[in-house]
Amino acid sequence: MAQRGRRKGWEILKERACKKCHRIVGEESVCPICKETSFSNEWSGYVVIKDPEKSEIAKRLKITQAGSYALRVR
Ligand SMILES: [Zn+2]
Repeated sequence: MAQRGRRKGWEILKERACKKCHRIVGEESVCPICKETSFSNEWSGYVVIKDPEKSEIAKRLKITQAGSYALRVR
């Protein structure tokens, strides 16, 4: 049987969204895209952008880099 790393119970990912560019960040303290440091837990709509140049949503949200983003951030 494959051995798994030790886990502290069931950890829920505290995902937050960057208030500036809407990028979903995990436990990072600085946004990898815009270097913003204010994040919000109150966001809705999850979108994964694979090809920003061909995506209408990416254009609307002014996303230039591939990744996961929130549609709305409060
Ligand atoms: Zn950002």
